[in-house]
Amino acid sequence: MPEQPNYIYADNAATTPLLQPVLEAMLPYYIENFGNPSAVYKAGRTAKRALEEARERTARCINCLPQEIYFTASGTEADNWAIKGVAHAMAKQGKTQIITSKIEHHAVLHTCAALEKEGFSVIYLDVHENGRVVPEELEAALTDQTALVSIMYANNETGTIQPVSEIGKICRKHGVLFHTDAVQAAGHLPIDVAAQNIDLLSLSAHKFNGPKGIGALYIRQGIFFPNLIDGGTQERGRRAGTENVAGAVGLSVALELACASMAERTARLIPLRDKLTDGLLKIERSRLNGDREHRLPGHISVCFEGIEGESLLLMLDLKGICASSGSACTSGSLDPSHVLLALGIPPEIAHGSLRLSLPDDFTESEADTVLQTVTELVARLRSLSPLWKKTRRG
Ligand SMILES: *Cc1c(COP(=O)(O)O)cnc(C)c1O
Repeated sequence: MPEQPNYIYADNAATTPLLQPVLEAMLPYYIENFGNPSAVYKAGRTAKRALEEARERTARCINCLPQEIYFTASGTEADNWAIKGVAHAMAKQGKTQIITSKIEHHAVLHTCAALEKEGFSVIYLDVHENGRVVPEELEAALTDQTALVSIMYANNETGTIQPVSEIGKICRKHGVLFHTDAVQAAGHLPIDVAAQNIDLLSLSAHKFNGPKGIGALYIRQGIFFPNLIDGGTQERGRRAGTENVAGAVGLSVALELACASMAERTARLIPLRDKLTDGLLKIERSRLNGDREHRLPGHISVCFEGIEGESLLLMLDLKGICASSGSACTSGSLDPSHVLLALGIPPEIAHGSLRLSLPDDFTESEADTVLQTVTELVARLRSLSPLWKKTRRG
């Protein structure tokens, strides 16, 4: 990164930089081809064509129809729309129960909490200590009141990949709609909504080297669904407002590039991730959070006993290393992560968490620097902690 020569970015799960070819694909739609896609003249038609091509490109990447893609302003908006939309539509048929898990992103959990206030009942499934939802437990929780199942594709804090295909099969068998928050998965893991029986799926461009402020919701054709925003006929009348043409182009080009390079990037990142993980786990009283095998390619989440994750992050920042303690959305709050607690990690240990999510161009030498720095800082923080000294003596 430009400001500091030795800057190391290891927080790709929080956001990613825009790729140059993505920016170049977007630029013409800001100045030269600035037309409103709803306009009848040529500049409008050019913008409209770009928007529809973006929809087609996006649809190809997850194997759905272009008319099943709705552009939104974020992953959060897509999650809100999917869950509230299905809940309100199904309530008319007397179905008022939603099943989700304890490890979802706040975009899902807080949406469910809002629905509980309206009178919906929500079941929050536990996860196994490896951070995965147990499909049999999900199946056992389904009733004829169930309107929707919403289980994320991959977790942002632990990197754990959920058994989405199995869940999709169960939901389809029971005729229950299935939404997945695939914000961490899109562009990083293969997605096929048809083969995986997914009815609704959320994604967000800034998590796969696209621009911020644009996401998409896939809604399987034929699902009755209320509009998100009333107004003009944009997004098939379901989400009115003049479209973010450049953003949609950026999302689709970034997703296409990410999917095209996925196999190669995965093969490069996994050995780096594993080597760095093994090194970090050599630190005494450390543990890996989440599943070792079913894990995003560049994702590491560990806990160190006897330290505060927030202190470690601040000290890493002074050394020019960007990392996270879990979720960007909860940092700054002193509560331990709801995800780590759901894995059964005791609160005092969950406080000492570190998440490293590696960008595509992460190098061996960066991994070595991160390992050495974290090892030194954990030792230093522990040497300053009276609590750690007491546990060591005891
Ligand atoms: C980042 C993230 C979101 C929110 O996406 P935004 O586009 O930032 O609103 C939702 N779910 C998960 C799993 C995420 O990682």
